Amino acid sequence: MPNVTGHTELVGLMAYPIRHTQSPTTHNLAYDKNGDDVIQLAFEVDNDSLKDAVQSIRALKMLGSNISMPNKTVVHKYLDEVDEAAKLCGAINTVVNMRDENGQVTGKLKGYNTDGMGYWQGLKEEGIDFKGMKMVLIGTGGAATAIAVRGALDGIAEIEIFNIKDKFYSRGEEIVDLINKNTNCKATMNDLADHDLLKEKMHAADLFCDATGVGMHPLEDLSNIPDTSFFKKDLIVTDTVYAPRETVMMKQAKEAGCEKVYNGMSMMLFQALIAIKLYTGKDTPVDYMKEKLG
Ligand code: NAD
Repeated sequence: MPNVTGHTELVGLMAYPIRHTQSPTTHNLAYDKNGDDVIQLAFEVDNDSLKDAVQSIRALKMLGSNISMPNKTVVHKYLDEVDEAAKLCGAINTVVNMRDENGQVTGKLKGYNTDGMGYWQGLKEEGIDFKGMKMVLIGTGGAATAIAVRGALDGIAEIEIFNIKDKFYSRGEEIVDLINKNTNCKATMNDLADHDLLKEKMHAADLFCDATGVGMHPLEDLSNIPDTSFFKKDLIVTDTVYAPRETVMMKQAKEAGCEKVYNGMSMMLFQALIAIKLYTGKDTPVDYMKEKLG
């Protein structure tokens, strides 16, 4: 339980709905462990109240705020600066009240997207050097976009993106275009219904990620991958889903003999720890957080 005093500093979380969130548990555990007199509180903020809520970060001299739906794609309008990856993604999940040389918050607000950073940090922590790798990525929503953009900026050589032909498909074509124009990574957009192409690309890839909601409720009995023959043994297999801890796709990969198979827990943890470092400048002990959060 944090010892809140007149000196305690505030980090927000602005989203709607928000009462189900795990974020304050993670943040407050980290601030406590790091010896920071900081708390995070969740606020119900939608697009209508967002402008005033962001202004309150300046007025209340808050350290910043996490941003979730429906505000991630809108909040940039009220900020002073946006980080390159967040700009390319078109989504911000962390707003930092920038500090001056004396460590005082300035009221100048900068937006970041730590979702993509969190995914790649999770792989680094497993000892995986992903520079130069070929990737197959399923999904073109918020999570997939953040992963693709950060990976392309950080040295992934090729990304083959697959998606069903729903409303997200054209977003995928835009992301591919942005990546090809702004990074050294070669990105391609493909139809997920083309199973022959998906299998060919998965056999040629080093890294695979499913960043759709398939595998979690209400789609927990489904996988985007038709059968185990799509996986080769040395493919690194990742899912952004963290509940359940093991999706149908992850089970298929393990059955096929893949040894490096990871769920979305590390992406979730590291997106928070990276945001915490942006607010306080401190690294949080990773093993401690994993042990406490389970
Ligand atoms: P989103 O709504 O922005 O995108 C959903 C994506 O899933 C789209 O590409 C869509 O076309 C695809 N999709 C939806 N239904 C499908 C179906 N039946 N078959 C195939 N594809 C389908 O969602 P998002 O925010 O990008 O989240 C995607 C997943 O990533 C969710 O499972 C979410 O829980 C997870 N996620 C995890 C973290 C983390 O920290 N681990 C962070 C963000 C999101």
